[in-house]
Amino acid sequence: MVGTSTGFSKERAPCGKQMSGSRYHEDDGSGMLCDDVNYSCGCRSISHQFHDGSCRTRIIRHDGRVLLNQLSAEHAE
Ligand SMILES: [Zn+2]
Repeated sequence: MVGTSTGFSKERAPCGKQMSGSRYHEDDGSGMLCDDVNYSCGCRSISHQFHDGSCRTRIIRHDGRVLLNQLSAEHAE
């Protein structure tokens, strides 16, 4: 897999603040996607899509509180 990491200077973090941070994007070209965002305050947003089309999203605030933990279409059959 090939991943790319890009920084940003101002984006709205899950806690509501405008923060700098970095985004990591990975795509294996066959349906597996990864999009992780790390904010400088410590907030994190993690989004993964798997080969079967299911999607996992997690948003974790800088104090460790999980704001969203979602798994969609676990088995798309
Ligand atoms: Zn934050």
